[in-house]
Amino acid sequence: MKHNFGAGPGILPQEVLKQSAEAVINFNGTGLSILEISHRSKEFEAVLDEAVALVKELFEVPEGYSVLFLQGGASTQFAMVPYNLLGDGQKAAYLESGVWANKALKEAKFFGEVAVVASSKEANFTFIPKDYEIPADAAYFHVTSNNTIYGTQLHQFPKSPVPMVCDMSSDIFSRKINVADFGLIYAGAQKNMGPAGVTLVIVKNEILGQIERKIPAMLNYKVQIEGGSMYNTPPVFAIYVSMLTLNWIKAKGGVEAIEQDNIAKSRALYAEIERNPFFKPVAATEDRSHMNVCFVMENPDNEKAFLKLCDEKGIVGIKGHRSVGGFRASIYNALPITSVHVLIEAMQEFAEKNK
Ligand code: PLP
Repeated sequence: MKHNFGAGPGILPQEVLKQSAEAVINFNGTGLSILEISHRSKEFEAVLDEAVALVKELFEVPEGYSVLFLQGGASTQFAMVPYNLLGDGQKAAYLESGVWANKALKEAKFFGEVAVVASSKEANFTFIPKDYEIPADAAYFHVTSNNTIYGTQLHQFPKSPVPMVCDMSSDIFSRKINVADFGLIYAGAQKNMGPAGVTLVIVKNEILGQIERKIPAMLNYKVQIEGGSMYNTPPVFAIYVSMLTLNWIKAKGGVEAIEQDNIAKSRALYAEIERNPFFKPVAATEDRSHMNVCFVMENPDNEKAFLKLCDEKGIVGIKGHRSVGGFRASIYNALPITSVHVLIEAMQEFAEKNK
């Protein structure tokens, strides 16, 4: 058995994988593969409707918001957000808390002025800046809720005087949020929600249509809303697997229950990192993520040997991102705490063998 700590694509629940595999051969007794059915069929419409309804239920999405399943990943949202929300001559505010935030703000510069309210770049993004003001004349304020590469997470969202746009790619459905605090939320599915190929967008309708700009249809939120996420052929399989995963979250007790599990997993792992003299944490204590736990070794020469031990124990995907080094254990929703215990035992065994 493998213990998958990979950062992205992340781990999906076993039962979701099994059901998806069956649907590839015979979808819901139709005698057709989920890969073959028409996106206009009543069977797929039911899948899409259920996926939208589950997003609304799990996040208690208020009236006045639209839920979209789009393509192009979060990286397309980096451009689609300013395309739709940042008019010529206007300014958008960004919190630069990592490389993904940086990529997002670079795209916004194609459309208007960008004000970086604060950045932790000088500290290699090991913390999330807290001391800043959001300009009241900005078209929107963009934040990243979880910085996948550095293992930091915005535990408290700021109060914003302008619509807040949030990239939740690596912690979507991992915790309770108040959708009403946001103008727009987006997330590539492939960490906590489904396979790569579909991107969730939750947008407050009233923030759209405020600027004068011609927007290509595929990149226009209004067109996508009018088309019910089916302006073109949607990623049927990715939406289906996402729907199954959302149902799995619901069956687990919803985002509140999942959040408690995630806190327990990250606490257990951080406790070992703090206790074990061979390892040390990377992220600032107050910003530690419940999704990606980054750590390095006191002696970097030991890294290879520790990776080898992990490999022997079926622990995969824990090599850190090249810009941080060391290790990154991604403990997404579907990773059971038993896998975290296996990693902790490996750390203890390594310390014991090498003391
Ligand atoms: N934003 C965050 C926080 C991410 O972690 C990633 C990918 O890891 C992205 C954006 C980019 O997502 P995509 O590959 O869907 O474009």
